[in-house]
Order: sequence, then C-alpha cells, then structure tokens
Amino acid sequence: MLKGIAASQGIAVAKVYKLEQPVLDIRTFAADPADEIAKVGAAFEKTIADIEKIKEVASRSLKEEELAIFDAHLMMANDPEFRGQIEEEIKAVKENAESVAQRVANNMVAMFESMDNDYFRERAADVKDVAFRLMCNLTGKEIPNLATLDKPVIVVAKDLTPSDTGSLNKEFAKGFATEIGGRTSHSAIMARSLEIPAVVGVKGILEEAKDGDMVILDAINGEVILNPSDEQIAEYEKKAAEFQAEKEALKALKDQPSVSTDGHKVELVGNIGSPADVEAVLANGGEGVGLFRSEFLYMKSEDDFPDEETQFEAYKTVLESMGDHKVVIRTLDIGGDKKLKYYQFDEEMNPFLGVRAIRFCLIRKDVFRTQLRALLRASAYGHLGIMFPMIATVAEFRAAKAVYDEERAKLIAEGVKVGDDVEVGIMIEIPAAAVLADRLGREVDFFSIGTNDLIQYSMAADRMSEPVSYLYQPLNPSILRLIKMAIDGAHKSGKWCGMCGEMAGDELAAPVLLGLGLDEFSMSATSILRARKMINSLSYAEMKEMAEKALDMDTIEEVTELVKASIAK
Ligand code: PEP
Ligand code: MG
Repeated sequence: MLKGIAASQGIAVAKVYKLEQPVLDIRTFAADPADEIAKVGAAFEKTIADIEKIKEVASRSLKEEELAIFDAHLMMANDPEFRGQIEEEIKAVKENAESVAQRVANNMVAMFESMDNDYFRERAADVKDVAFRLMCNLTGKEIPNLATLDKPVIVVAKDLTPSDTGSLNKEFAKGFATEIGGRTSHSAIMARSLEIPAVVGVKGILEEAKDGDMVILDAINGEVILNPSDEQIAEYEKKAAEFQAEKEALKALKDQPSVSTDGHKVELVGNIGSPADVEAVLANGGEGVGLFRSEFLYMKSEDDFPDEETQFEAYKTVLESMGDHKVVIRTLDIGGDKKLKYYQFDEEMNPFLGVRAIRFCLIRKDVFRTQLRALLRASAYGHLGIMFPMIATVAEFRAAKAVYDEERAKLIAEGVKVGDDVEVGIMIEIPAAAVLADRLGREVDFFSIGTNDLIQYSMAADRMSEPVSYLYQPLNPSILRLIKMAIDGAHKSGKWCGMCGEMAGDELAAPVLLGLGLDEFSMSATSILRARKMINSLSYAEMKEMAEKALDMDTIEEVTELVKASIAK
C-alpha cells in the first residue's frame, strides 16, 4: 500500500492508466532562420488550436471560472512577446527552433519561479504547460489526451497539468493518483471541483504501477493499493457504494434547518475567497457566508490595490447571490504570510506578530477607506456584516469603527444609498481579545472566532511550521476556555458569536462548540452537510453538560475521549 494526501474525497477501483508525457530530446544545431521561424509560426498555430480543443472538451464538465485557466494558456500562446522573443533569438543565433524555444521558455519559467509571490510561482506551471505543448508540436511528438479514454481507469501520473485535468472525461476517469502535489495544488483543486477522487503526493507510484494493473484508490484515507486481492476489491467496492450513498443522503439535508434534537438552532454558513465560491455554499445548503476573505481580491490584483468600483462589484455580486442570507465580509487581512505583488512590506523579524490585518489598515487609512466605501455601497444589496481582523484592543476597534462611521456619513451626505442593517463586528483571533471579550462585546455587533490564528497565538506555535504543528490543539481545554470567554462575552451584551477558523468545520469540535453556545459555524462549503447531520443528531442540553466537563480537563486527549463517548451514545 502506498500513502499520499487525500485531495478529493471518494473511493474508486479500476485499472491503472499511466499518463506519461513524451520525452523530449532536444539538440542544438545551426539552421536557416527563415525556415525555423516558419516552423515556429506553424507550431504556435497548432498549440493554440490544441488548447482551444481542450477548452471545448473541458467546458462540458468545468465551470466558467475554472475554464479561465485555459484562457490564461491561450493568452500565453497568443502572446506576441513570447513568440517575438523566440523569433528574435532565432535570427540572432541562427539555431533550430525547438532549441531556441526551449531556452526562451526556460528563462521565462525561471523568472516566474524566482518571484517572491505564490501567484507568480503558480504562473510558472502555466508557462511550462504551454511551452511543453509548443515543443511537442515543434518536434512532432504526440501528447496523450485524456479526453479520448473509452474505459474506466484510474489515471496515474507524476502530476497532472491543468490541461490534463481539464480534458479528463469523468465517465471513464474514475480518479487519479499523482506522485507529487499537495492539497492546494492545481490538480487537487480541479479534482474537488470535478468531484472525482484523488490522492496526490504518492511517492513511488510511477515506479510501482504498471499500465493495466488493478488499483484501489482510497481518497478518504489517502491510500493507494496496487494489485489488490479479490477480497480487497469486494471490500472497497462496498465502501465506495456506501460513500456514494452517504453523499446522496446528505443532500436530503440541504434545505433543512440546523437544529439540535431539543430545538436549539444554530447557523451553518460558508467560508469563501471569491464571488465564484458562493455557488458551492448554496449547493451545499449554506445559510449564509460567515467569512469572505477579501484579501484574495487584493492578492489577485496585478499592479495596485483594487479600486472601489472593482471591490464594489465583487461584494455586490456576493450579496445579491446570497439573497436574504447574511454575508460577513472581512476587511483586508494582509501581511504575515499573505503578500501583495504591488506593495513591499517593511522587513520584520516576525511578520505574524507585525503589521498585519487591521494594524496595516489603520496605518494605510487610504486603502482602508476605499474598501469601506465599496462595502458600504454594496450593503444596499443584501444583509451585510463587516468584520475587522486581528483586533487586539478596544482602542483598535474604536479607531477602525470611527473610520467606518466617517465613510458612512460621507456616503449618506453624498446621497449614496447604504444598507440600514449593516452589522460591524470583529474577529477574535488574539488571546487578548478573547480575555477582554465582555468589554469588546459592548461595542461590537458580533464576534467571529478565528481559531487558526487564536490557536497559533495562544500556543505560540507558528501555523506554518511543521515541527510545532502538534500544538494545533483545538480541543485543548485552554483553547476551549478562550472560546467560552468569547461566546459568553458576546452573549452578555446580547450579541451573537460565530466561528470561521477551521475548527468550526471539525466534526469532533462541533459537539463542544454547540455546548458552549456558539451561534454560527462557518466552514468550507463541502463540510456543511456533514456538520448539519452531526448538529441535528445532538442534544443541546447534553452537549452543554459535556462542554462544562471538557473545560475542567487537563489534556486534549481527555477531551477527545469525552467527545467521542458523548456522540457515540
Ligand atoms: C483564522 O485565523 O482562524 C481565520 C479564519 O483567518 P485566516 O485563516 O484567514 O487567518
Ligand atoms: Mg486569521
């Protein structure tokens, strides 16, 4: 059995189809520039036609925004700069086209890869993808095409390029396993969106798997079993059917309320990073949006902070698509590990403890004001909650709220329509804020607990550091006590308290959070229905009692045992 990372849940049993890219053996030799430039022209045309064809096949199974990747590829293939550089270089060195094209492409890839920015580093993968196709067309090599599959298989590859995943025919590609990649790699994201099982980062799979071998892909536990026994095949086929049945059964909960067996109602809502994510929240029965990470708009922008109009359109789209449901948009949370292409942060020893989030916005009030105006204008189109990230003190909240009040007053004076039910809240993700929650609760309309940071700061354990990741302990009584302070602090002033950190979607945490009185759970769209099933099966009175006991324990292990026992009843 080989281990990897379950990137898209499910189970599949089928034969291996190894997707191996042609090996390019490119040599350099002297050649006539006119002939070579003609070859380049023809290869670019074929490359463009190929990508258009793949996009057309992909458009049958992918959504509009996922097809954008092919537009990026087409843009690159049509880029006069890319082609021009190759032609100029051919004229200068009088060498064969494929050798020159490879050199130009490698330089471009190296340039993108060296950039200190995730977005650009990811673009390097796109350049590689297009350049490889171009090179194959220059040398007359065929690239295997997954769109032509005609029997059920599990695709095994080093990694899948966006063109590969785009041309996957879901009817026959039952899943895939790749040698490299992580949960957030392109192929993993595509697999989740296509809803086909995928295990990525399976070291050794290419060497061990042979074309036509039988294979079990367990993309729940991140396991790949090659040449399984008949008993194993029967066992996993049963598991696959059960998984499918559970998925179908969960769909029945889509329009149901989230309510405990003794009538205590909570809200299950979604975390989103862009307006396009709203669709998944609604499809999974989300009762609103509990966190729109607005920083993605800023990270996507190419050369400046996004302007008021661009932001207004994005916020308005989300509010309109969510109808009467509440949408909580977080103001810019930048800094720490989140960087911008067009803005250089000052060097700091500990960026996670430095100028992040609201601290940045209170320094760059111009940037903050633009966002607040866009939010306030959009508030006329739905039910908006605005929250400030990383609030540590009452004074910080007051300072941020004062800027908000000024912008609101200005807009009203200008005759611009703004919503009259806008709620202004804060994230509780710094221990100081949790401890002072009863005072902060008097000033805000709501809290949303950001456990990803709250745990990192409470445990003094960098959330990006693998060796200290054992300190990510959502169920540690210390964290539960801080959460209780936050919830009680809000309730004392009649305000509501939500949670939008990963803990909110954790099935073992849900019973305790329910018992502590959390009002709103915000999580990734695909976790919502499972969470609803859990909440709907629990008694609020019993979970309250259980949570009291948990607060009085010593270790995360004890709490975990307690929770397991309480839901097994
Ligand atoms: C959090 O800190 O829990 C949170 C939701 O914010 P982010 O993960 O974006 O820092
Ligand atoms: Mg955070």
